[in-house]
Amino acid sequence: RNNYQFFTPGMQQKVIERLTLENKLRHAMELDELLVYFQPQYDIRTMEIVGLEALLRWQPQGGELVSPAKFIPIAEETGLICTMGEWVLETVCSQAAKWVKEGLLNDTIMVAVNLSVRQLNQDLVEIITRILDQSGFAAKQLELELTESMVMDDLKSTSVLLDLLHKLGVHISIDDFGTGYSSLSSLKHLPIDVLKIDQSFVADIGQDTHGEAIIRAVAAMAKSLNLRIIAEGIETEQQLAFLRKNGCYCIQGYYFSKPLTIAETEALLRKQNKQPKDNHLGIR
Ligand code: C2E
Ligand code: MG
Ligand code: MG
Repeated sequence: RNNYQFFTPGMQQKVIERLTLENKLRHAMELDELLVYFQPQYDIRTMEIVGLEALLRWQPQGGELVSPAKFIPIAEETGLICTMGEWVLETVCSQAAKWVKEGLLNDTIMVAVNLSVRQLNQDLVEIITRILDQSGFAAKQLELELTESMVMDDLKSTSVLLDLLHKLGVHISIDDFGTGYSSLSSLKHLPIDVLKIDQSFVADIGQDTHGEAIIRAVAAMAKSLNLRIIAEGIETEQQLAFLRKNGCYCIQGYYFSKPLTIAETEALLRKQNKQPKDNHLGIR
């Protein structure tokens, strides 16, 4: 239509790759190729695990793990994310309930699940109610992570939904906080419990004073609004020291632990349970 576009063989290759991936993803659930990993969150004052974030993984048969950064956008475009997201919630809640029963997960440890924008509709309340009932996992231990843009794009209906979810007893967390365009005045009217400082700001520590200033501001705001705050993507001692100095004590990142398989997570919980007073990471 009154314009022209360039075509290169490389573009065709990309389209084919994407279609192949999409096709394989459609069968991932029935072929049992999805996995949940957990990344621990530590309180650096006690060096104890205070949270676990569930992170989805895909391992096609005979292939390597595919990063969610690669397949979640496709799952979102195709709508597959709704069944996948439900599967994640079911798997995580039943696993967490099992750990509670076995005495490995005490009721101070939160378990976080990421949600996609496509899951945000009234059905979500029913789905979560059913999953909590069936698994026996306590609502107050489940944290739902939404990004800022998911909340802000349709503030009116999201706030109704968040109120309903909050009434169930689940906690609401804002992921990648600081990267979107939150209306700060809206924040205080939403039933939010946690702000997660985005890893891009953490990466700025010692490199960029703007990033550091943003962390200080978010930490101060969280404190005055009485919100919990979690920093993610901590990789260095220097980042840890800066966060501690600015009152951010709940930490998630490779410095402590990469996302772990269910068996590895279980071993870690067992270790913490056996030696609750031990600083088993050897980090001060
Ligand atoms: P996210 O929720 O912000 O998760 C944090 C990501 O940072 C994870 O990547 C984690 O592995 C990574 N990470 C943690 N610590 C460090 C660190 O110290 N350094 C660096 N460089 N990275 C670190 P992952 O697992 O690849 O997940 C990427 C994104 O995919 C997640 O970002 C989340 O938005 C999405 N995602 C993961 N699982 C699910 C899911 O079950 N449902 C939905 N809707 N989205 C998911
Ligand atoms: Mg997250
Ligand atoms: Mg994040």
